[in-house]
Amino acid sequence: MYTGIVSTIGQKCKRCYSCIRECPANAIRVIDGQAVVIEERCISCGHCLKVCSQHAKSVESDNIKVFDELIPQFDTFAIVAPSFAASFPENYDKIPAALKKLGFKRVSETAFGADLINVKYKDIIANNKKTMISTPCPAVYNYIEKYFVELVPNLVQIVSPMIAMGRYLKANYSNPKIVFIGPCIAKKSEYRDLEVNDAIDAVLTFSEIKEIFNSNNIELDNLDTIEFDPPHAAMGKSYAISGGLLKTAGIESNILEKDLIIVEGKSKVKEIIDDIADGKIKSKFIDILFCEGCINGPAIDSDLNHYARREKVIEFIEKNQSHTDRNVWNSEIYNSRELDLNRIFTPENRRRPMPSEEQIAEILRRTNKYSEIDELNCGACGYDTCREYAIAFGKGLAEDEMCLPHLIDKLESAYTELKNTQEQLTNAEKLASIGQLAAGVAHELNNPLGTIILYSSLIRNELQKIEKDCGDVDMILDEAKRCRGIVSNLLNFARERKLNPAEVSIKNVLSEVIKIVTDTNGNDLLIELEDNAEDIIIKADKDQLKQVFINIINNAIEAMESRDEKKLRIILNNDDSKIFIKIIDCGCGIEEENINKLFTPFFTTKKIGRGTGLGLAISYGIIKMHKGDITIESELNKGTTVNIVLPVSNKYDLKLK
Ligand code: ADP
Ligand code: MG
Repeated sequence: MYTGIVSTIGQKCKRCYSCIRECPANAIRVIDGQAVVIEERCISCGHCLKVCSQHAKSVESDNIKVFDELIPQFDTFAIVAPSFAASFPENYDKIPAALKKLGFKRVSETAFGADLINVKYKDIIANNKKTMISTPCPAVYNYIEKYFVELVPNLVQIVSPMIAMGRYLKANYSNPKIVFIGPCIAKKSEYRDLEVNDAIDAVLTFSEIKEIFNSNNIELDNLDTIEFDPPHAAMGKSYAISGGLLKTAGIESNILEKDLIIVEGKSKVKEIIDDIADGKIKSKFIDILFCEGCINGPAIDSDLNHYARREKVIEFIEKNQSHTDRNVWNSEIYNSRELDLNRIFTPENRRRPMPSEEQIAEILRRTNKYSEIDELNCGACGYDTCREYAIAFGKGLAEDEMCLPHLIDKLESAYTELKNTQEQLTNAEKLASIGQLAAGVAHELNNPLGTIILYSSLIRNELQKIEKDCGDVDMILDEAKRCRGIVSNLLNFARERKLNPAEVSIKNVLSEVIKIVTDTNGNDLLIELEDNAEDIIIKADKDQLKQVFINIINNAIEAMESRDEKKLRIILNNDDSKIFIKIIDCGCGIEEENINKLFTPFFTTKKIGRGTGLGLAISYGIIKMHKGDITIESELNKGTTVNIVLPVSNKYDLKLK
């Protein structure tokens, strides 16, 4: 079997998953952002070409072979599939002349090949014991050879009309080259099949031949109407439409007929093949076509809908039936009685093993389906149920992103995360520029403040010597020192202070802080420490970290002032690279509009004299100097959580003293 004829045009694939959903053989996977056809799984049905709005699937082309090799060197005959009337509805009678213009020596109907095999089909339908499956459609037998190997013995071992016609022409003419022209992609794989590759030399599709007419400026309307070359076909012309095979074999199927079934179209085909394999079908003969008649083949290239196409083919049959001389036809058929029209089919199992129930459940959980209620069975993935999708996924045949509800959930959370990160980033940028300004001002103030403190100390000493009252000078000195404290805090916020790093156990730092805080607040305050972390030693500035925790805990205590129960929870966790500290209070909470201002220096909601608005700004600076992160979540009237994350790595570049 040869099935590597369809591939993806990289630049055009927009990864919409249509082809993956449509592919009856699960033969398409997304690899490096593109829907790639897996050759060994492909059955060449061409459904992916039909559904790709971007025209991102290409089919192996024989154009160069036909026009540069065959036609210039050999007697090259075209055989045209009966659906051509649906592909060229306005001027199908000009096709023989147009093809001759391109250099084909003879142009015949493939339909005579159908006539050739009909005798054999008649025989099989009359005499078979088990359910037999027709084999003119290569996509159908490719599918069975790859995915239902147990049904290979049920395939009718007779060549398709195309191969029959190729063999007929090769037997009756001196070494011609035969080019089949039709609506079917799978024929390109069929003619290369080692079992039958003596019959046909190239396959072109109707879409391809239309392009070739255009590029050679062949206008069908301007051509003469000439007949197809003999042999002329009889009922084989009807092969392209539903029930054509039976009609050709002279068998009428009616609605009460249970021994014969005609099945067309991807989903019905899959259904019936499943049923035959399960032993649910008892009919003697099943005519299966992957498309809804060859008139709906992937390369038909027609604007008409199904019934209009059917009408065109019937119109052609009616118009041309009289051209077939019954006596001539009978003798052609008789003379071909020795022609070998048999073939065999070879199983090439590509079915993947069924995943276990546990694996299926695990896959369902991956897409947030924990119970049956979660299984929406919306069908967006191309599978009827979430379970079917999970099975395909377990077989390695479906993609994660095909589950649309799951994808939407993922997108929503990614969007929220992105939005949060963006807000944090904007906030961090704002704080960085405030920091720059603060550092500049602090540096400028530091020197004059130093001078004021120095000279007022000198004056104070002088006054003391002569035993004068120092009250006013003390005031200057105290206020100047207060200013220096603020300046120093500002430098802390602007990360201008140096760290004094040493090996520090966060657990120790916290216990020391808890002790200080409990000592100063007495039994009034309840601190619960939930310690889930290993005792990791990190390189950090212990005093500065202590200051951070004290600032945060003091804020919490102040926020819980009016609460009867003042409870503080401190939760400690870690993973390989980080330590996580959560400090949770049950205080007044923070107004939403203030959340983004908390780390800004001098932002306070406290009364003058109680708050400076520097506690969190300093803490932010210190944590950032440690390459960590600090965030605050809060719910008004419920409480506030401060999250601190510190890296475990001791390689980070601390500003050494
Ligand atoms: P200050 O405590 O001097 O006001 P901070 O920088 O420490 O300055 O805090 C800034 C503001 O953030 C506080 O005034 C308060 O409004 C708010 N805040 C900080 N922590 C909490 C908390 N745990 N609960 C409620 N509000 C808080
Ligand atoms: Mg404070």
